[in-house]
Amino acid sequence: MKLKNYMEDAIRNTLDELLEKDVKDACKCSRCRLDIIAHALNHMLPKYVVTDKGHTFTRVAEMQQQFATDILVALTRGIKKVSKNPRH
Ligand SMILES: [Zn+2]
Repeated sequence: MKLKNYMEDAIRNTLDELLEKDVKDACKCSRCRLDIIAHALNHMLPKYVVTDKGHTFTRVAEMQQQFATDILVALTRGIKKVSKNPRH
């Protein structure tokens, strides 16, 4: 059994979709991606789940609307912040 922060998967998946569809001018290098994810995670409450697979896959469509909106806001702020001061 493993303890997993489900918020991290949700944020990673949402960032992938955002960078593909909506935010084409943001840097997509691994350093910037991780900085954006860290920023967003620091502004969201963690959601821990116990899983026996060590992995839970969560699509945005399966989430509650407010939850998805909060993630989008946190990621958008992270993208703006990292774009101003990229550390790559
Ligand atoms: Zn970068």
